[in-house]
Amino acid sequence: MARLADMLGHDGLDGAIVGVGPDLEYLTGYQAVPLERLTCLTIGGPSSEPVLFVPRLELDAARAGVRPDLRIETWEETDDPYVAVLDRFDDRDDGDVDILVSDRMWAMHLLHFQERRRGVRWLSMNPILRELRMIKDQDEIELLRLAGAAADRVVDQIASGPLVGRTEMDVAAEVRDRLRAEGHELAQFAIVASGPNAASPHHQPSDRVIQPGEPIVLDIGGTLGGYNSDTTRTLWVTGADDAKGPTEDFRHLFAVLLAAHNAATVAVRPGVAAEAIDRTARDIIDGEGYGENFFHRTGHGIGLEGHEEPYVVAGNRQPLAAGMAFSIEPGIYVPGRFGARIEDIVVCGPDGPIVLNNEPRELRVVSG
Ligand code: ZN
Ligand code: ZN
Ligand code: ZN
Repeated sequence: MARLADMLGHDGLDGAIVGVGPDLEYLTGYQAVPLERLTCLTIGGPSSEPVLFVPRLELDAARAGVRPDLRIETWEETDDPYVAVLDRFDDRDDGDVDILVSDRMWAMHLLHFQERRRGVRWLSMNPILRELRMIKDQDEIELLRLAGAAADRVVDQIASGPLVGRTEMDVAAEVRDRLRAEGHELAQFAIVASGPNAASPHHQPSDRVIQPGEPIVLDIGGTLGGYNSDTTRTLWVTGADDAKGPTEDFRHLFAVLLAAHNAATVAVRPGVAAEAIDRTARDIIDGEGYGENFFHRTGHGIGLEGHEEPYVVAGNRQPLAAGMAFSIEPGIYVPGRFGARIEDIVVCGPDGPIVLNNEPRELRVVSG
């Protein structure tokens, strides 16, 4: 928060209002529930001391969630909290006041602020907050590492089978149970995409029964200590007596994918543009004729949110810096037939990549 206040001062901004969401959690530790009653953190203004504004009935919850030295003010059911918050900022007559708001504040709250005070320029806080949130400190990296290791264990447990004869939904339910058993407080998603469903990157687990002789894309994640895991492995189920091993064309597709994934990972180092990591993976996949079959970005940042900056995508010139954490997850999808994806969370270290998912990436062949 001190660094944020510093940056606000530098840019000559009048203040910032942080609504409920990951930005508030990042700055204060408070995991507030988003509600129609206004909860927000104000930074800047004449007193410059950060203040957490909460409805009176949320006071105990807020106190329990934040550092003891953060000032908390409450508003009563019949107060106008928007006026109270705005009164903290300069009311200059020239009407030239710039106030930042966090991206996740509900439009409803921002509209109420706008109604109460004309002449304010409302700006997104993201250009400032992204600079802080993109660079993970040691504690954050440790939580990402723990979350990743827990997800890795679940991948291994699921890949140990049995899988054949079960529905995707049944396996997905097991993934969620196991993520919680391995320390996640929230099992956020469990993509289990079998056979032709593996060609859909965000497939919703269905009642399709897993057959011998097909791939399964397993993409799982949740939060541990507030920080997200997100990992993907591709399996192939052969059935009893290993009758139906991977086909030649699937083996080729997978080998290209693995080469692309590995090349993108080793390209990670400070100063390299995010888009160059995407290019590295895409060039290999394009070169083998699968360009049309890789139709999503190579990765996304990760932290308190499952998807955040920096995005590993063409057009993003953001240079990587030590402490940035993001996924590398190329995929190749052949509609109606099959698909594959490999996903690791990678931290940009001072000299190169630090990979947080360490389950073997090779095509895992499972008999049952
Ligand atoms: Zn995804
Ligand atoms: Zn994923
Ligand atoms: Zn991902």
